[in-house]
Amino acid sequence: MKLSDPRILAALPQLGVECIGGASLAERTSLGIGGITDLLLIRRHDALPDLIVLLRDAGVAYKFLGGGTNLLVRDGELPWVVLQLAHQEPQVRLEGNSAHVYAAADLGRTVTFCAKNDLGGMEGLIGVPGTVGGALRMNAGAYGTQIGSYVRGVELYRAAEARIETLREKEISFEYRHTSFAPDDIMLAVKLELPSKPYREILQGIRICNEKRRSSQPLNQKSAGCIFKNPPGGSAGRIIDELGLKGFCVGDARVSDRHANFFVNAGRATCADMLRLIVQVRERVHAAYGAELENEVILWTE
Ligand SMILES: Cc1cc2nc3c(=O)[nH]c(=O)nc-3n(C[C@H](O)[C@H](O)[C@H](O)COP(=O)(O)OP(=O)(O)OC[C@H]3O[C@@H](n4cnc5c(N)ncnc54)[C@H](O)[C@@H]3O)c2cc1C
Repeated sequence: MKLSDPRILAALPQLGVECIGGASLAERTSLGIGGITDLLLIRRHDALPDLIVLLRDAGVAYKFLGGGTNLLVRDGELPWVVLQLAHQEPQVRLEGNSAHVYAAADLGRTVTFCAKNDLGGMEGLIGVPGTVGGALRMNAGAYGTQIGSYVRGVELYRAAEARIETLREKEISFEYRHTSFAPDDIMLAVKLELPSKPYREILQGIRICNEKRRSSQPLNQKSAGCIFKNPPGGSAGRIIDELGLKGFCVGDARVSDRHANFFVNAGRATCADMLRLIVQVRERVHAAYGAELENEVILWTE
């Protein structure tokens, strides 16, 4: 979508928002799939309420982008603009065992920074790409760790109230790849509380997790991580593998040979290819096991 409303265009510089015209979502997502739209880069968090009121009043639809590592986006001219938080420095500020982190911070770098300051616990999250905000939205987790376990408070834009608020730990619930945030809430910053641990020990844990990832995931191919959530007590990857679907493809969208719950863009896969692959694998799993796999990847396909 090309922003053309003169009121919005005139207000953006005052709000500290940069408009990147004709931004390619294929270049901003780890799957390498997605069309073109205007991207609004937000430099000041306090400008968000006014920006969203402006967009809503003008009837401009929007979506919020983190690091683009858990998204399947439709092709062509997109019918909404994309909002993204610009990096803020310092991305992490430490105070005893607390880490105050901006949502636009890279999750892996946050884990490393905290580790170097003898704050551990998040070793399992080291290889999860994307931003801290994206990790909060989905309660990202790996190898027995989930970000929600360390959250003590979240500063966010609450769409329902159209204002910025801070929620405390007890006001948020974190479950397996699910949180109680409203779909249009926008996380701005988080306070994490992390256990003290010697750097050497944390590094050991990080190395083990990195090695597990390297040996089981197609890290040199374009993917969005796991496509489906694991069913209760089971593994979506194992089920798909048991059906012999590794290597199964629709166009250039392909079930990874390394990890059957990773679907990769092996060349020029379109969003339609990837969607068809998701539907076909889900149908095969349902036919064989009666299980309905739920998407972990977020679809921006409407
Ligand atoms: C190779 C690979 C390995 C992966 N391994 C794991 C893993 O082990 N565990 C795991 O949990 N995930 C994994 N993922 C998936 C992905 O990295 C995580 O879900 C990640 O937390 C998404 O963050 P993001 O910033 O990229 O979010 P995006 O993909 O940009 O967005 C995902 C959703 O979060 C929303 N969102 C993003 N930022 C914010 C914000 N600040 N406020 C509100 N909403 C926001 C978006 O609107 C969208 O709905 C993997 C992905 C890849 C490519």
